[in-house]
Amino acid sequence: MKSYVFPGNIEEEILQINNGQIPYMRTAAFSALVKESEQMMLQLINCKKGKVIFYTASGTGAMEAVVTNFVTLKKKAFIISGGSFGHRWKSLCDYYACPNEIFEVPFARDIDYDKLESAIIESQPDVFLCQHHETSTGQLFNLKKISDICHKYNVSLVVDVISSFLADPLDMDALGIDICITSSQKGLNIAPGLSLIVLAESVQNLPYARKGYYFDFAENLKNLERGQTPYSPATTLFMQLHARLKMDIEKGTDAIVDEVRNKAHYFRSLCKKNGWEVPAEVPSNCITGFFVHKNGDILFNELLKQDIYIMPGGTPHYFRVSHLGVQSKEDLDELAARIKEIENYKLN
Ligand SMILES: *Cc1c(COP(=O)(O)O)cnc(C)c1O
Repeated sequence: MKSYVFPGNIEEEILQINNGQIPYMRTAAFSALVKESEQMMLQLINCKKGKVIFYTASGTGAMEAVVTNFVTLKKKAFIISGGSFGHRWKSLCDYYACPNEIFEVPFARDIDYDKLESAIIESQPDVFLCQHHETSTGQLFNLKKISDICHKYNVSLVVDVISSFLADPLDMDALGIDICITSSQKGLNIAPGLSLIVLAESVQNLPYARKGYYFDFAENLKNLERGQTPYSPATTLFMQLHARLKMDIEKGTDAIVDEVRNKAHYFRSLCKKNGWEVPAEVPSNCITGFFVHKNGDILFNELLKQDIYIMPGGTPHYFRVSHLGVQSKEDLDELAARIKEIENYKLN
């Protein structure tokens, strides 16, 4: 199988982890694994005095946790909506009756940062919710500009970095981000099922709102002091996570991001050769979103017949190819050739 979706193709050594009996988690060994994972995560995202909450839930679970524990403490949220993941912040705030204002960004466009600043002055929000990379379109937002605006107007900054962490440069301390969210099946390139919240020192020890039992920050942080989770963790995923973080620390963030960037640039050169338009104004390294010319309605299923997975984009003839996980230039050559072949199918 060739996977250009999330998490992408994974090395055998990670897949083989705990391919046997499931260990018990209330042990010193498991606590040590959790504590080490926390430290490695903080190092990779550069949040020196941070804390990490681990949830056995996909990324949306962590987004929900931020809303129930943190956003509900605030009077008003301001949301960047550049696609379906931005809209998810809006749905969550509405669901929990958090007052919010939305700043719409057109498909695959960058934010107009001057307009954004004016909107913030007008809106006077307490908390800013955005994505670093809006995965539905491939657009990467400028966190430096966003954080400058947030700091200038004293707005707390929460960033969903789920699909940019380990794909695009990200330095939480340098940017002064209060909360980052990520999950297992994107840059960390392991199975889906874990999500992680990184709390900077600025947002630790707050009287968090208690609007959700399972995701309660205070209860999770209390258990984390001894390297435990309040409820049964997905033990095998934690073991994969620990192994992955160790590999990533050895490689270093810059080298990991360079690798992803090289794959992305290479595939975009193939798109250019084939005349496939890449609409993102500032594309993330994580994915390439592109329009094919013909047979977009059959492309996904025709590739599937060849055991190749790409992501449909929600817009006719628009597809997304992930650059996370194991993929060589030869793989990408092959993928482009197959897409081209299917484009040229003569249909009755
Ligand atoms: C994948 C992703 C999520 C999480 O989605 P789940 O379906 O819960 O895994 C959230 N935000 C972004 C930007 C993502 O790419």
